[in-house]
Amino acid sequence: MRSLVVAENENGRVADATLRVITAALQRALPVDVFLPDPALASTVEKIAGIERVLMMAGAASEYVVPETLAAQLHRMHAMHGPYSLIAASHRTLGRSALPRAAALVGGAFIPDVIAVEGEGSFVRSLYAGSVIANVNTASAVTFATFRASSFAPAADSGGNGRRVIAEPIAGFSRTKLVERQASAQTGRELSDARIVVAGGRGLGSKDNMERLGKLAEKMGAALGASRAAVDAGYAPNSAQVGQTGKMVAPDVYLAFGISGAIQHLAGMKDSKTIVAVNKDPDAPIFSVADIGLVGDLFEVVGEIEAQVGAGGTSR
Ligand SMILES: Cc1cc2nc3c(=O)[nH]c(=O)nc-3n(C[C@H](O)[C@H](O)[C@H](O)COP(=O)(O)OP(=O)(O)OC[C@H]3O[C@@H](n4cnc5c(N)ncnc54)[C@H](O)[C@@H]3O)c2cc1C
Repeated sequence: MRSLVVAENENGRVADATLRVITAALQRALPVDVFLPDPALASTVEKIAGIERVLMMAGAASEYVVPETLAAQLHRMHAMHGPYSLIAASHRTLGRSALPRAAALVGGAFIPDVIAVEGEGSFVRSLYAGSVIANVNTASAVTFATFRASSFAPAADSGGNGRRVIAEPIAGFSRTKLVERQASAQTGRELSDARIVVAGGRGLGSKDNMERLGKLAEKMGAALGASRAAVDAGYAPNSAQVGQTGKMVAPDVYLAFGISGAIQHLAGMKDSKTIVAVNKDPDAPIFSVADIGLVGDLFEVVGEIEAQVGAGGTSR
């Protein structure tokens, strides 16, 4: 039995999330292959440590694949180059859309949002925004699973020697067509793989103050995150949202300014190694997960840090 991981293209390179899913698959101690919808990344993917084969389709030229086509491709890969007992992708839009479809085509099981691997067919997943942690054992010969990338370290992107396997192409799904992709403008560092995240909530009170926090983040070599309330208020772009309906992050340090700590926000950051929270309300739920909690005015604390790192601030 083998595992197959779907590799995603992110801005022309292999997504960090893909490297993390490969780590998860390797924990099953079975051979791991990678399926590459975009052959342009083959020379990078074949060097990832620990993988055996890199599967591609002849003539597949599209940088982006629609979920229906990816589901059919995985069905074909399983039939021609498997059998696979696990077909895995990151718990992001493409994987969440394609893998349940592929599971239905193959007649396999689907397990979403896996945060740990316990054995060949045994996984841990979170439910209800992290309030329940469930151990799930699959009874299916093939299991499709999406993995929460932030729960796993990235596999080394060098030292591997994956063998390329070129498969016969299949026709793409014709009833839907990807017309255009509009990536939101990248603001500062990428959140998902940042070692430090500086995040702001509604307590910041304005877009100008979020920009100020962004400048501080930049000075600290950190990525800027935001609560959904801050995003909804227009202080920060959607791409900065952390939480159940935003990004899941687990940096070394997560600094939360003016974030109350609603369960939906905690779901996206409570695995961070050290959590620092600044909030004027001593009863704010964020303090229940914080390693270091500061009860006080966030603007005073931001001002102090700016003075330390030499970032210029504006006033409230
Ligand atoms: C289905 C669903 C999905 C959701 N998904 C997400 C998600 O992915 N991510 C997410 O974040 N939320 C999500 N939410 C929303 C979530 O429930 C909260 O509403 C949101 O997280 C609150 O954001 P906040 O903490 O910035 O705002 P608030 O709850 O309004 O908290 C603001 C905090 O700032 C503090 N504050 C104010 N001024 C200062 C100051 N000067 N100094 C220090 N502290 C100050 C206040 O004491 C307060 O604790 C979701 C909700 C639902 C129903």
